[in-house]
Amino acid sequence: MRDPRYDILFDPMDIGPLTAKNRFYQVPHCNGGGYRDPSAAAEMRGIKAEGGWGVIFTEQCEMHHSSEITPFIELRLWEDKDIPQLRRMSEKMKTHGALAGIQLAYSGINGPNLYTKEVPLAPSAMPIRTFTNDPVQARAMDKQDIRDLRRWFVTAAKRSRLAGFDLICLYGAHGFGIFQHFLSRATNQRSDEYGGSLENRARFVNEVIADIRDAVGDTMALTLRVSLDETIGTLGFSNAELRDFIEMNRDLPDLWDLAHGSWEDCSGPSRFKEEAAQEQLVRGIHELTRKPIVGVGRFTSPDVMARMIRSGTLDFIGCARPSIADPFLPKKIEEGRVEDIRECIGCNICITGDMTMSISRCTQNPTFMEEWRKGWHPERMNPKGNSSNVLIVGSGPAGLEAAWALCRRGYDVAVAEARTEIGGRVLREAKLPGLSAWGRVVDYRQYQLSQRPNVDIYLDSALDAESILDFGFENICIATGATWRADGVARQHVVPMPIAPGARIYTPDDLMDGSLPSGRVILFDDDHYYMGGVLAELLARQGAEVTLVTPSAYVSDWTNNTLEQIAIHPRLVEAGVEIVLNRGITEIHADHVLSNCVYTGRSQRFDCDAVVMVASRRENSRLFTGLKARQAEWADCGIRSVEIIGDANAPGPIAWATYAGHRYARELDGPDLGDALPFRREITELAAG
Ligand code: ADP
Ligand code: SF4
Repeated sequence: MRDPRYDILFDPMDIGPLTAKNRFYQVPHCNGGGYRDPSAAAEMRGIKAEGGWGVIFTEQCEMHHSSEITPFIELRLWEDKDIPQLRRMSEKMKTHGALAGIQLAYSGINGPNLYTKEVPLAPSAMPIRTFTNDPVQARAMDKQDIRDLRRWFVTAAKRSRLAGFDLICLYGAHGFGIFQHFLSRATNQRSDEYGGSLENRARFVNEVIADIRDAVGDTMALTLRVSLDETIGTLGFSNAELRDFIEMNRDLPDLWDLAHGSWEDCSGPSRFKEEAAQEQLVRGIHELTRKPIVGVGRFTSPDVMARMIRSGTLDFIGCARPSIADPFLPKKIEEGRVEDIRECIGCNICITGDMTMSISRCTQNPTFMEEWRKGWHPERMNPKGNSSNVLIVGSGPAGLEAAWALCRRGYDVAVAEARTEIGGRVLREAKLPGLSAWGRVVDYRQYQLSQRPNVDIYLDSALDAESILDFGFENICIATGATWRADGVARQHVVPMPIAPGARIYTPDDLMDGSLPSGRVILFDDDHYYMGGVLAELLARQGAEVTLVTPSAYVSDWTNNTLEQIAIHPRLVEAGVEIVLNRGITEIHADHVLSNCVYTGRSQRFDCDAVVMVASRRENSRLFTGLKARQAEWADCGIRSVEIIGDANAPGPIAWATYAGHRYARELDGPDLGDALPFRREITELAAG
């Protein structure tokens, strides 16, 4: 049973008129589904309830139509019609005794109103500040606007109560909520009683909280989410000013929810931030207030969590990503199963679902956002089908997840791995600068598999079609991964690029195998995710003179979606990497490359000793095609199915591989869906006309 060291995490605690059953607090987090996928989002929160969280929040909810953040998909509470879908979510949240919270957001200077076409309102007239630099400015609110907004908050609070929520979080962090826009001198340049001194800048939040208390305060608790430090220097809402604010307003909300700076600061990836990275910024704040405090820090270790509470730093352990990677984290601690926690790796793939307005995924938890769409439960698998065993070839993230999910269904599983260690690309990539936490993808599955009697792993076992036909397994799952191409084929070049004899070309696989170029190195990045930037850093730190050339306008362009780009660029500059944007490479010679401007085509020569080609990957599918070619022999060999999954099927990020492995395991021996849609979805109800 539970380790007594962690008892403190299970002490109930009051939040205003309510009591949370424990200290596990799922802070608001996006999921890319929002108002478009209400049942998928609701079911995801319901799974967290089952997993033991004491407090569960929605993502941000646009509380009035005059402030919305299209194209991003969150929740909406614009009129009574929105209540039923939010009620579905609150009901799911409360199924196991958790408090259900809604985060009300009025986006102010952050809401371009592209959908409603309303003129944005903000404390001061300024351009809208978002990821997308929309050519829209906000109008400064006059006194009537402020009175209106106070009324709209009361209306939204009443609707929240009707929707079944216990807690309201007023959003004023990450640069995203109007409360921060009033509090910060950067966005509040008013000269009336709402601007100037801290007392004046704090007036609006005081008024709104008093108004909401009058309306619903006897039954609901109010939390205020503010930034620990706006991280824009002395002009912004600094940590020192936050402390003054809390001291001056000790009892303002029923709980202080302390987030950090921008979203990039707060959801720092493991490449740039450790667990509990905000500890210094939070420490001591408790002495300034009698109200409980929740804070985040990608907490996955119960020891760190217990230390945070015991030291008086925090009262609640706030988690977004750790609750996504393992919705059952509290339950596993409670049941003394700490080693079963599936730890977040800090890759921020979950955030890309929001940033790309698609639907979120998680590298560690492939069931995330599939709880309703596909009926996937993170802890329970569907029963075993008709066949009894599976041979998985390849132990990367796809093969390992397939093995772990299949053995839970009750299949006998054999995993054959050509190398002498399991883990595939994860094992290799986790040794690159900043990526060590990614090794958790392997660690978790390796440990879980070691606890199961029905899995055998064979290392140093490169299989060919002949041996597989001989073995007599009923189901064959090919998860043999992919190999980086050296010929430059990716986006700029759809056929191999001109490479002269004598040119020294290295691929990411070469570097991960320990073969590193030195001297003047051109790194050509036409992949645009993390690999190019990580390898440039690796080589620069090893003493190479690195020039990173990319046709994109950004280094590691796609990492804008993981909130990493803003940290990658300066890290490379600090490492001494020369960054050349908006340029491709047209020819590679023994001692130089020719580069083209992507706009004008103008050519430029870069002298170099070697080129690292971060282009695309080729599927290792030979084994699969070899088996397919011998399909006529399958029945005699006892083979019922041969499938290819993960990078061997189509290369993608690690999250795509764990998803593919999980899906294979779920669907083995299942019905043939034919042309039917393989997941549930909701569509907008048509109006009468
Ligand atoms: P994915 O991301 O799809 O899981 P990886 O590249 O991470 O793919 O892993 C593939 C694994 O498959 C690697 O560890 C590789 O060594 C192994 N592998 C490739 N071909 C064979 C083979 N013929 N027999 C056994 N293992 C193989
Ligand atoms: Fe953590 Fe990555 Fe999963 Fe997000 S996607 S919860 S960062 S493991």
